[in-house]
Amino acid sequence: MTSPAAPTEGRLACGREADALVAQVAEGHAERLDDHQRDCPYCQAALAEFDRLWAPVRAVSAHRPQAPDGLLDEALRSIRGVASDPEFGSITDARGRTRISARVVEALARHLASRVPGVRVALTRLVAAGAGPETSLIADPGPDVVAGVAGGSTVVAITLAADYGEDLVDLGTRIRAAVADGVRASTGLEPVAVLVHVDDVLL
Ligand SMILES: [Zn+2]
Repeated sequence: MTSPAAPTEGRLACGREADALVAQVAEGHAERLDDHQRDCPYCQAALAEFDRLWAPVRAVSAHRPQAPDGLLDEALRSIRGVASDPEFGSITDARGRTRISARVVEALARHLASRVPGVRVALTRLVAAGAGPETSLIADPGPDVVAGVAGGSTVVAITLAADYGEDLVDLGTRIRAAVADGVRASTGLEPVAVLVHVDDVLL
């Protein structure tokens, strides 16, 4: 299998080196997530996008011992471009490029998840802030969302409180569908994964 020839530079928002993920993809292990990657939307978005960009090299390498240099260079150039812009997803069409901030995906996903029945939304949940005598109750702003973006791929991680009595597995499925469909329709980015963490159930 062909290995990447040149460094991509840069780290993801989580601190992982982009080069290490490129190597993981080139070795054919994009799906083999370590403990950190299993919960990390930044790593998962980058792995999905790098894997997509690496696919032409892999397809040729399956038939020949060495992919042509042009194909390899093209894949690495694309991956480097994605890795150099870690806060933005981007969609390129015939007329130009649209960059979409991870914050836009997060705001959208928060809104979409809030509208799923069974998810507790803004102002209905009070959470303790601070410690000791300074503890105070503040209004929870709703689901806590982190989005990783890489080129045309995004991965959204949502932490939320559910209504008591909800089937949480079913709730997770409905949230995943609502967020994936809404993010895809609004941004054009492909939501390759939506990670749902239910961290509280409210009576
Ligand atoms: Zn990570």
